Amino acid sequence: MKKEHIIVIGGGASGLVAAITAKRNGADVTILERNNRIAKKILATGNGRCNYTNVTASGFDYNNPEFVEYGLTHFSPQKAIAFFEELGIAPKVEGEGKAYPLSEQASSIVDVFLYELEYLEIPVISDAYVTKIIPKQQEFLIYLEDGRQFDCTKVILSTGGRAMPQSGSDGSGYDLAKNLGHTITDVFPTIVKLKLDSPYLRHLEGIKMPTKVDLLVKDEVIQSETNDIIFGNYGISGPATLDISRKALELFHAGKHPTLRLQLVTALTKEQVKHRFIQLQNKPVDASLVGLIHKRYISPIIKEAGIEKQNTLIQELPGSQLAKLMDLLFDWRFVITGSKSFHDAQATAGGISTKEIDNQTMESKLVPGLFITGEVMDIDGRCGGYNLQWAWSSGYLAGQHASIGNKYDTHQ
Ligand SMILES: Cc1cc2nc3c(=O)[nH]c(=O)nc-3n(C[C@H](O)[C@H](O)[C@H](O)COP(=O)(O)OP(=O)(O)OC[C@H]3O[C@@H](n4cnc5c(N)ncnc54)[C@H](O)[C@@H]3O)c2cc1C
Repeated sequence: MKKEHIIVIGGGASGLVAAITAKRNGADVTILERNNRIAKKILATGNGRCNYTNVTASGFDYNNPEFVEYGLTHFSPQKAIAFFEELGIAPKVEGEGKAYPLSEQASSIVDVFLYELEYLEIPVISDAYVTKIIPKQQEFLIYLEDGRQFDCTKVILSTGGRAMPQSGSDGSGYDLAKNLGHTITDVFPTIVKLKLDSPYLRHLEGIKMPTKVDLLVKDEVIQSETNDIIFGNYGISGPATLDISRKALELFHAGKHPTLRLQLVTALTKEQVKHRFIQLQNKPVDASLVGLIHKRYISPIIKEAGIEKQNTLIQELPGSQLAKLMDLLFDWRFVITGSKSFHDAQATAGGISTKEIDNQTMESKLVPGLFITGEVMDIDGRCGGYNLQWAWSSGYLAGQHASIGNKYDTHQ
């Protein structure tokens, strides 16, 4: 059987693992990368530390558990850790199963990829922006924007989604796939800051606190997270709301009018807070909240409770206003009005329909010989190492199966 010549389009997370895996299997591999260097996005991951996997990852951490399960089993987080250990990365597993290089530098991951590409003699053609893929009999013709042309026997499409387009993933992979007959599902940013409709954002800006956050549609709780939130002048971010953003935006785009409920006080019961107000009844309302909630919440929450003068004594407050204030401490709702753009997002929801991809090989069901990896397909995971894990898992499967012609050769 002839030796496979594979072109990997995109030298990002999934493309690099696909290329290394295929080359180790004996295929000829070339990477076409539009930037002047590989893996630009990896440098930005995990706040520059690269949270490269999560040891607890399972299908339920993704939008389509059934589809990803096979890949996560065959190239599990433990296999990812072993893969990178072999390349030189000592792992450091932190809280919630998040794994980082012990060096605490995302650049270490990029460096070990560069060493391995050199060792395996995998050519990387940079400044190579692919604009067209044409299947031709048993081959593919690949066209670049600048007119250059390549041919190969298999293609691995690893162009990423649309998150952080400045890193190179501008969504061009969707057009490439669409031209080959693939369906692209609705695409929107995820793991992203949420915009809120609130007159208090200027006051709240800068608050960073662990908080219980519920995502609601009317009064139904859709998702709950307890972690840091960070208020900005546009709305809210921080791990709790980044985790909620996927579901929130799905509901928002479906016209379901989702809201966020913040529980500012979690360490005390309502009864205990009521008792506190009784004890502090000679104090002005603003002073009674000092030491209970973040200072920047005080003025907005008093206004929201309909209390006109901040220095009204607790004992002078009408019962209804005191009750409203108490309620807000445990249930303060904010209307979600969208999110920041792909420039601020960590991942993309939506993409090439997974109905058209074989989940055991990552081969297109429509175009034999075309393999698809990573974020360009309609798969996204939670915040915390899950998206890179999917990049490695899907890249591994694609690399294995794209080079399968070679395997037959060596077995004969
Ligand atoms: C700021 C930020 C922080 C993140 N932190 C984490 C984290 O800590 N942990 C985690 O698990 N996930 C994290 N992610 C998500 C993770 O980085 C991505 O899910 C992952 O990189 C996707 O891999 P990919 O191979 O699909 O695409 P990418 O890594 O985006 O790679 C795609 C590559 O294809 C190239 N390309 C695109 N179009 C073309 C074309 N037409 N021709 C040639 N080349 C092309 C691009 O230049 C790029 O190099 C983060 C994302 C961002 C933006």
